[in-house]
Amino acid sequence: MVVKEAYEKRERSSRIQKCSSPQCCINRLPKKFQDQDIFFCSRPGCSSACHFVCSGYYTIEQRHNASQASPECLPCREGEIMTVDDLVAHVDEAIEDIRIRLKEEEESLNELSTEKKELDDILQLSKGATKKRMEAVMAKNGCDPRVYYQALNGNQVRNLFRPATIEELIDVFKDHFDVENLRLLMLDFGKLMSWSRSAILSVAEIEEISILLQSLKRNLRLVHPDLGVIPKLHIMFAHLVTFMKRHKTWGKSSEQGIEGFNALFNKVERRYSTVKNLELRTILMRQYFGNLNYLFDCGENWDNDD
Ligand SMILES: [Zn+2]
Ligand SMILES: [Zn+2]
Ligand SMILES: [Zn+2]
Repeated sequence: MVVKEAYEKRERSSRIQKCSSPQCCINRLPKKFQDQDIFFCSRPGCSSACHFVCSGYYTIEQRHNASQASPECLPCREGEIMTVDDLVAHVDEAIEDIRIRLKEEEESLNELSTEKKELDDILQLSKGATKKRMEAVMAKNGCDPRVYYQALNGNQVRNLFRPATIEELIDVFKDHFDVENLRLLMLDFGKLMSWSRSAILSVAEIEEISILLQSLKRNLRLVHPDLGVIPKLHIMFAHLVTFMKRHKTWGKSSEQGIEGFNALFNKVERRYSTVKNLELRTILMRQYFGNLNYLFDCGENWDNDD
């Protein structure tokens, strides 16, 4: 859209350097879109340096695919120099494609919303016997979710993950095929919770936690075979034991870093949310974090005193 409007506008007076495209639009774009990537045309003997956006590569997908293959400038691709009118028509086609895709997405979003609503209703509004029994167990053990609008506070979570409460709760669902895995998982979480304090840990205790984490990882996978790994879980399973061995306690860790990273992760995910292809989206996100890592990672020396 912005590109189309740009072609229909006149050039701005404040100029930045144009690319080799005959109709470079960089000085017609609004300021916040003027930071555009450049590529070199791969046609032998051409090697013009062009903005992607001046060469018909408008979306993130188009740019990525082009730079993976061999991007060519528009004059080389089309065999002629396109006029501004040609370019507007070219952009129009691209906009139409996006419109069609948007419509498809909208339809599947609607379907999903309906499905979600149905599931929510089952969860929230159900008055079945199982739900009543579950609520009774929760209330009896001091973690009645109704008091705090469905979310449990710290003390309630502590109550919930006491072994006795877990057994009582699991008993409510004893006919479900997967309940044994869930029981083991909750027990592991309960044990891990009791280690989460500021005490100094012995070598044997750290070994015990390490074994517990292995078991937790296995049981989590059994209960949720398809879920992804959030950063917090990665830190816990991949780095917690090393951290404890080094500092002899879990108490020195902070949630601050992971909260910051979660915010960043969500931001980057939103930024690439328009990329439909999941594999490509993952590649782009990994690239983004790789760049950040390259800029900020200072290797093994990060906590040297001097
Ligand atoms: Zn340009
Ligand atoms: Zn070229
Ligand atoms: Zn890691």
